[in-house]
Amino acid sequence: MLSRPLNGYDGSYEPIDALQTALDALHQRSGLDIPIHVDAASGGFVAPFNSPDWAWDFRLSRVVSISSSGHKYGGVLPGVGWVLWRSGDHLPEELRFNVNYLGGEMPTIGLNFSRSGAQVVGQYFNFLHLGRQGYSQRMASLEAIACHLADGLAAMEPLRLVSHPRGQLPVFAVECDPSIKNWTVFHLSKMMRSRGWQVPAYTLPANLQDRAVLRFVIRAGFNQDMADQLLADVQRNLAWLATAQTPLPSSSDELGFRH
Ligand SMILES: *Cc1c(COP(=O)(O)O)cnc(C)c1O
Repeated sequence: MLSRPLNGYDGSYEPIDALQTALDALHQRSGLDIPIHVDAASGGFVAPFNSPDWAWDFRLSRVVSISSSGHKYGGVLPGVGWVLWRSGDHLPEELRFNVNYLGGEMPTIGLNFSRSGAQVVGQYFNFLHLGRQGYSQRMASLEAIACHLADGLAAMEPLRLVSHPRGQLPVFAVECDPSIKNWTVFHLSKMMRSRGWQVPAYTLPANLQDRAVLRFVIRAGFNQDMADQLLADVQRNLAWLATAQTPLPSSSDELGFRH
């Protein structure tokens, strides 16, 4: 079973602990004993610092492997990623290649063989340089800025929060009120891009495709002043959109989406 403590669509964590409870019940009922892989691409470098008491990792007995992206909240240049297995028993034998042509026996599980070790050194540097305390400070600051931004957007009349970043990833989504007929989040996204902000708009996945959202991802280096500038730009764009008397032409990114 694959699970993600990051929901890429709105930045909220998935309840891995509740999934384990459900799988325990399934095991009792049917005999199926299903382990969990956690896709912690973003959450793996956030939850341990912002939500240290929440058990989503190897503290849960069904979790046998966890992946995380060093190049997201790990703070390293793209694209280093990590996979941890609970024990060697859970590492599939088919992933392990034993090579002897460098002298001696050397096991490798990389998808390609020769590649730079620079990113690994970069990750190691961050671990030593920032330490647990440094990552905790960074994540607390990102959470505070994301909350400031989310609260500011929630206060703007036509926007509604789909998720709030408090106690979650510094990632959240907003949608516009269904009463708005003359423009969509796709228009707002395009206008934000012309002010230099990359705030993607997209439709939610299956069974929610009739809802389109704008996603904000707050990364290290984004500060409170930038958040205030971003809020001012959203406000300015909303004021312009409010003057539309008839529906604006649908944007090319919209892929047929309509309110
Ligand atoms: C980014 C992301 C991935 C891909 O990870 P890479 O390190 O970029 O290959 C997978 N799953 C989720 C949930 C992600 O956010």
